[in-house]
Order: sequence, then C-alpha cells, then structure tokens
Amino acid sequence: MNLLIRGATLVTVNARDEVINEGDLAIAGAQIVGVGAAPPGFVPDRIMDGRNRIVLPGLVNTHTHLSMTLMRNYADDLAFWPWLLQRVKPLEDHLVPEDVRIGARLGIAEMIRGGTTCFHDMYFHLDEVADEVANAGLRGRLCGALFDNSGQGDALLGAAVGLHERWHGKAEGRVTVGLGPHSPYLCSPGYLREILSEAERLQCGLHVHVAETEREVAESREKHGVTPVQLLADLGCFRVPVVAAHGIYVDAADRRLLREGGASVAHNPGSNLKLANGIAPVQELLDDGVNVSLGTDGAASNNNLNMFEEMHLAALLQKWLRRDAEALPARQVLRMATINGAKALGLEAEIGSLEVGKQADVLVVDAAQPHLAPRHDPLALLVYSAQAADVATVLVAGRILLEERRLTTLDGESLLELATAQTGSLLARASAT
Ligand SMILES: [Zn+2]
Repeated sequence: MNLLIRGATLVTVNARDEVINEGDLAIAGAQIVGVGAAPPGFVPDRIMDGRNRIVLPGLVNTHTHLSMTLMRNYADDLAFWPWLLQRVKPLEDHLVPEDVRIGARLGIAEMIRGGTTCFHDMYFHLDEVADEVANAGLRGRLCGALFDNSGQGDALLGAAVGLHERWHGKAEGRVTVGLGPHSPYLCSPGYLREILSEAERLQCGLHVHVAETEREVAESREKHGVTPVQLLADLGCFRVPVVAAHGIYVDAADRRLLREGGASVAHNPGSNLKLANGIAPVQELLDDGVNVSLGTDGAASNNNLNMFEEMHLAALLQKWLRRDAEALPARQVLRMATINGAKALGLEAEIGSLEVGKQADVLVVDAAQPHLAPRHDPLALLVYSAQAADVATVLVAGRILLEERRLTTLDGESLLELATAQTGSLLARASAT
C-alpha cells in the first residue's frame, strides 16, 4: 500500500535534527520514500490528514522484561535486593510459558499505544514472546536471560541458542535474537566466556545489566578486583555489540572502556529512581562518546512501559544531577529514544529516523490538545509536554498497528480479562508451594 501523511509537522531525527512544517511523509509498502514531499509519480492509495499532527520515528525501548507486566504493582516501595530476591524471583520461579505469552501480549499492547515500535527484551520462554511479536506486528530483539548462580547455566544457554536458531530474522526480519547474560554478579566469569563464544559464533550481541547498584560495584571490586565494566572488558565481551542496561556507577575509566568497546548504555530513569538505585551520568557518557539509549526496564519496577515518561525523567534528572538546566536538552533526549536505540541494536540503517529508504516505523502524535498548545518547539513539546496517551497512530514497516488510538492487530478489551485471569493462575501456583 502507498500511504501519504499530508501536511504534518515532521520531526525527522536525521543528522541535523531537522523539523519540517506542513510536510508530507510518503510510504510505499514497508519503506519511507519521501520526507517533506512525495517523490515524483507517487500515487497514494490512502491519505492521512496531518494537520495538528506531529510525526516522528517510532520509539525504541532498549531495556525491558516485557512479561513482567503480570507483576505490575505486585512488589512496590521496596529496596532493590528484597524486591528482587524476596518478591520477584520467587514468583518468577513459577512462571509457565503461557504466563510469559499473556504478559508479553499485554506489554505489546501498552507499548504500541504509547508509540514504542521496537523493544529489547531479556527474559525466559521467549518463543512465546517471539510469536506474540510476530502476530502483533512490532519489532523485538529477544535475549534469553542467562545466569549460572544455581546450576542452571547450561540449560538456559542451550535454550537461548535454540531461540536464535528458531527465530532470528523471522517475521519479515522484525524478530531478532541476542543473548542476555543477566549481570556480572549472576554469571561467573567462566560462564560469561561461554556466552561470549556463542555470541561470536552466532554473530549476535549481548544484553546485560551493568553497574545498577553501588553494592554491585563494591562486590565486584571485592570478588574480582575490578568494576563490572572492567570485568566485561577483561573477558573480551566488547568484541560483540553490548547493550549495558543502567550504567549508573561508571567512572571515567569505565566510560572509556564502553566507548572503546562500542557498547551502548540503556538508561532507565524510572526504574532507577523507583528502586532508589541512583541516576546514571548520562551527559558524561554522551560527552565521552558513549551511545546512550533509553529503556523502561520491566513493569514490576517502573511501573509502566511509557517511553514519553522516560524521556521526561531523563531530561529533568540530568539537569538536577549536573546542577545545569542546559544539560541533556530535548533534542538529545529524543535522539536517545529513537536513533540511539536503533544504534544500540545495530539497526540504525533501518530504523530510528524519518529518512528515505528506512523502514516506515512511524508514530503520529495528536497535537490538537490543550496541553500541547501553542507549538513553539516540537522537540520540547514531545519531551516536556506530550504523554503516551497522545499517540494517535502507529506504523511498523508501513503496517498500521494503532489507528486513532485503536489497536488493529490485538483485541485490547479481551486482553485485560485474559491478563487478569493469567495473573490469578500464576499467584495460585506460587501460593500452592
Ligand atoms: Zn532489567
């Protein structure tokens, strides 16, 4: 289908952060073929009215545990370690594939409604998640969670490699697969070496939690004599693309290693604040040349998958952290949520900006609302004023997944009942033991 979005404000996030007023966006099949004006001879099958609409590239959520939506508001107002070890892990021990499937579907519905078109997941039973991604129409990089602290390392790695064989590049290329070593504190150095050698063989990247708490860094120094980032570097992990989730406690030497290793840091301000873990030095990471993207983390620690909220928090936190209102301007935050996310996943040639030849992963914000008027600066509007609920329409690879706030590939109403019932079943299983 040839689609023309006519007369919209186009926030391109190209190399010049160009904004085009009253521009047309032309889409042929899965691809963007015109930005600003349609190419000569373009005949649209359908025209969308772009008046009072802001069109931007789909948001890329680079750190999630999608199926944790079933644990939303299950364990709150707790410190990180009791939250993880006494509440979340015991419930996760009872997860069955159907829990993961329904949790993923709920998360996908939430993400699409909030303008997220691509996500980077770390979890278990990811065949179910891959299937949901294929059916719902968005993009996902799925990484099997790996740890060997209680003897299950080989089984998890086998499952994660199997997932790569079954799903990498499937669903028109929308599903890709990486490996998800949970963290240097739940993976032994020997196990990390094994994971790395599989990643090199499969030519895929690593998705790993790094330097999320002060205690993690202190224990790494005690146990290994180095920081978590230095440990990953010493093991050779940066020979493959690495997305380091959090990166809160990274010193200048760590930041240099991340840059030299071509690693990305996925910043999760909502989760980091809620668990009182800290504020990542985002401006310093960016100034040091590290690619920094944005993520929500799981819904058990956020408690939503709302990238507009993360953009807002990211900007505000850096200003206070640096005692500098000029830190992390809206323009840079929007790049973190789009093109930097694409870079983190090695997808910057395909998604992350509105440019001719890229995939038509596009979101349309309804700007005809009191809290979005007047429109002095569309970039500031998106970061400081817009809400996830302002997203009207979402396309991935040219296919409409949300139209005027209605999901087209998922049944949003029955999903809520289904998710409630599945959560009840999970809690019943957990309390039976
Ligand atoms: Zn996480």
